[in-house]
Amino acid sequence: MTTDRVFNFSAGPGALPLAVLKEAQRSMLSYGDSGRSVMELSHRSPEYDAIHREALAGLRRLLAIPDQFAVLLLQGGASLQFSMVPMNLMTRHRRADYLVTGNWAKKALAEGRKVGAARVAASTEAGGFSRLPESDEIDLDPEADFLHLTSNNTLFGTQWAELPEAGDVPLAVDMSSDILSRPVPWKRLGLVYAGAQKNLGPAGVTVVVVRSELLERAPEDLPTMLNYRSHAAKDSLYNTPPTWAIYILGLGCRWVEEQGGVAAMEAAATERSARLYRAIDASDFYRGTAKVEHRSTMNIPFRLPSEALEAAFLRSATDKGMTNLKGHRSVGGIRASLYNAAPMAAVDALLEHMADFARDHG
Ligand code: PMP
Repeated sequence: MTTDRVFNFSAGPGALPLAVLKEAQRSMLSYGDSGRSVMELSHRSPEYDAIHREALAGLRRLLAIPDQFAVLLLQGGASLQFSMVPMNLMTRHRRADYLVTGNWAKKALAEGRKVGAARVAASTEAGGFSRLPESDEIDLDPEADFLHLTSNNTLFGTQWAELPEAGDVPLAVDMSSDILSRPVPWKRLGLVYAGAQKNLGPAGVTVVVVRSELLERAPEDLPTMLNYRSHAAKDSLYNTPPTWAIYILGLGCRWVEEQGGVAAMEAAATERSARLYRAIDASDFYRGTAKVEHRSTMNIPFRLPSEALEAAFLRSATDKGMTNLKGHRSVGGIRASLYNAAPMAAVDALLEHMADFARDHG
């Protein structure tokens, strides 16, 4: 089979490493010599159990997750976590703070408000979410049950270089679009969650890493499937997990380890994004939309002088084998998403296209 593959700049589900896809292809019909696809293995079988444990162990190793945190593999996407986080954790003072830095943060806040007194501790919506709040703009409630934030704003291309200080209030962080692209400061964290479909693997599995002592906070009458404790007690095998997605997640972790782990992912992400930002900043034709100090290494949004030119840019990019460069429908413009699996060659191709297009239309 040929692998006539494009450079895929999708914001998610994102590109996966070719080596992972090839290995998955091999085990599609028979996993090892089992004579069964991974998808056909019982989730109680020894073969699947090894796959499951390896995915969990891979995440723990790569992210250097301390023992006092539980790692959960759940379904429902990051969006279900917008509800599960407050349902499980907003139980002490029934108040939580939210940093509203993009559409996903807004959605998390809206779900938090259905559970308790979710409050905006800072918002950058007035400026179109083109930046993050400065520390003196953040008004923290020291009795908040948690402070929720989005570490990387997928639509707007902003990213916290360092997570904000919150004193004794545990941080609950949506890392959907930058997990495994840099080290995680566990000391300050209560909970992290991420849909797998950008930096980790395919859609269908969501990783939640939660400090074990926080598991005690969930009310007894919380529905079983919505209670982190149910999943933690059974190593995420309380019910049938998304076995295929977890299998690919495990392959993805192994691939990252082979590349040199999180340090290598961070170096590559820094290099990829820096090259694009340099080109944007050096040109009068392209214009970055995020505040320079808050720029993301994962999602790089930029504009051209007109929407007509943007449409033409996207058309000719597609012709050259570069897809999914269109900005989110709520933002417009161009967005290059460069997650862990993005090869430097994708950046080279995009830079060449940008130079050609600016020369022809500038
Ligand atoms: N949070 C962030 C930062 C996202 O980029 C997304 C989009 N994938 C979501 C949450 C929603 O994720 P899901 O589609 O897995 O619910």
